[in-house]
Amino acid sequence: MTDYAFPPPDQASIGIAGSSKRFPVHRIYCVGRNFAEHAREMGAEPSKGSPVFFMKPSDAVIQNPHIPYPSCTSDFHHEVELVLALGPSLPEHWSAENALQAVYGYAVGLDLTRRDLQAAAKEKRLPWDTAKGFDASAPISDIVPIQEAHLNADTLLSLHVNGIQRQQACLGDMIFSVSDILLALSGLYALQPGDLVFMGTPSGVAALHKGDRFHAELQGIAELHGTII
Ligand code: MN
Repeated sequence: MTDYAFPPPDQASIGIAGSSKRFPVHRIYCVGRNFAEHAREMGAEPSKGSPVFFMKPSDAVIQNPHIPYPSCTSDFHHEVELVLALGPSLPEHWSAENALQAVYGYAVGLDLTRRDLQAAAKEKRLPWDTAKGFDASAPISDIVPIQEAHLNADTLLSLHVNGIQRQQACLGDMIFSVSDILLALSGLYALQPGDLVFMGTPSGVAALHKGDRFHAELQGIAELHGTII
């Protein structure tokens, strides 16, 4: 046994629907600008060039429904997203044909964002870490194993806040497909079992305030409820 100088932090993990086992989180990759209407609302022209990636720390995942309003922002935004969870069946040589075998299951999550800090970083061409990778910035549902999660182009991704719909799109509107994204990521990083991939958000991103109740849904597959405190 490794003789650590002090006890290491707990392994970040999330629940698995229909199982008492936990999904151990390795890294959290996120895709920017994967829905054309959202790229436009952020002031960018949608393009099918190379996908934009950024990361959150693995312990940014939170399944407690009480989500703390973060420090150092006055423009705290929701982004509802399809989340891929990668399992142990990773291809040895990645291709468009075999990329999907890496997917263990799907979840719905929020890529919570300090939009004011992101806008300032974009303006100065600085990194997005403080805008995207803060504590509790990745609320996520339990992972639904692929055997029970049948996604298709018409599957709706939606977010309601205080009972009012803020975001909705079908997965077929994504610029880059699940296999496009996995193939691109696999060229940049050694993907591992336990990696999560937030696939990008539809248009309609907006501010959350203390007391807001949210309900995110990946139609017929996963749901996520919570309150900003
Ligand atoms: Mn996002």
